[in-house]
Amino acid sequence: RAKSSGRQTFSFYSQDMTTLARQRVKLEAELRQALEQNQLRVYYQPIHRLDDGRMLGAEALVRWQHPERGLVPPGEFIPMAEDSGLIGAIDAWVLEQACLQMCQWLQQGAQLEFVAVNVSSRLFSRGELDLRVARVLAQTGLDPARLELEVTESAVMDDPDRALELLQHLRSLGVRLAIDDFGTGYSSLARLKRLPVDKLKLDQSFVRGLPNDAEDAAIARAVITLGQSLGLRVLAEGIEQEEQAVFLRELGCTLGQGYWFGRPQPAEQLLATAASAL
Ligand code: C2E
Ligand code: MG
Ligand code: MG
Ligand code: MG
Repeated sequence: RAKSSGRQTFSFYSQDMTTLARQRVKLEAELRQALEQNQLRVYYQPIHRLDDGRMLGAEALVRWQHPERGLVPPGEFIPMAEDSGLIGAIDAWVLEQACLQMCQWLQQGAQLEFVAVNVSSRLFSRGELDLRVARVLAQTGLDPARLELEVTESAVMDDPDRALELLQHLRSLGVRLAIDDFGTGYSSLARLKRLPVDKLKLDQSFVRGLPNDAEDAAIARAVITLGQSLGLRVLAEGIEQEEQAVFLRELGCTLGQGYWFGRPQPAEQLLATAASAL
């Protein structure tokens, strides 16, 4: 009995794995098609100054307009894109779209300092990123100082020596650099101080409990103080309530992003918000 039930268990799992593997292959093929058929969309989330509330910039965030499943958030396809190697094409496309969009906003007179674009750790650890960025800047004509690249703290600390070299290359192109999801990636402070970055993005998991959670408050305070000591701007992610914005501003945090200021939205809508924020 034990033997047969053992066999059954085995076949159950193996069938399950096959189903999962098939679903994955299907999703991968669909995503490849999505790229070719223009089903990806770039949404933009506003970034505001905490002192006077002015909108300073926007972060580009990819979505997949799936023919049956509707608007699919990046968390549901970026990890698979990273494993399958499609991430390079996706990030390159988002980068180009964001640069073109920023050029258009500036032509329309929008008072935006920068557009921020996420760079996958998979891409970051490969060599051609700086060439790719240089090419897109040359093609679009965007002033490099108006482009900010976001690299996660864990991607940087995975291979810090290599990250330092890559960030220096990117920096020499004149782009801005931000460390995303800061606080979740075990930074060595000795290494952090040598990185040529402009900004720390305090991860939203530490903003969620503000202002009441004492531990979140302590971490937020520590990161803001660290940023100030290193001459970096600190941006708090995931601000959903006014009292969180006020609390962070009082701690000396200069920038904020989150649903309280605005959700990620199509480019046309963001410009309407930007105009009204002037
Ligand atoms: P991220 O770069 O840390 O982006 C911030 C995420 O927090 C976004 O989720 C945004 O919609 C969400 N968010 C912003 N404000 C709030 C808030 O007040 N409350 C809550 N609960 N959430 C908020 P999204 O758009 O789903 O993106 C998730 C992650 O996917 C991003 O995290 C980034 O790591 C990745 N991602 C998005 N677009 C791209 C891309 O073009 N390339 C790559 N490689 N990764 C991307
Ligand atoms: Mg980001
Ligand atoms: Mg983040
Ligand atoms: Mg994140």
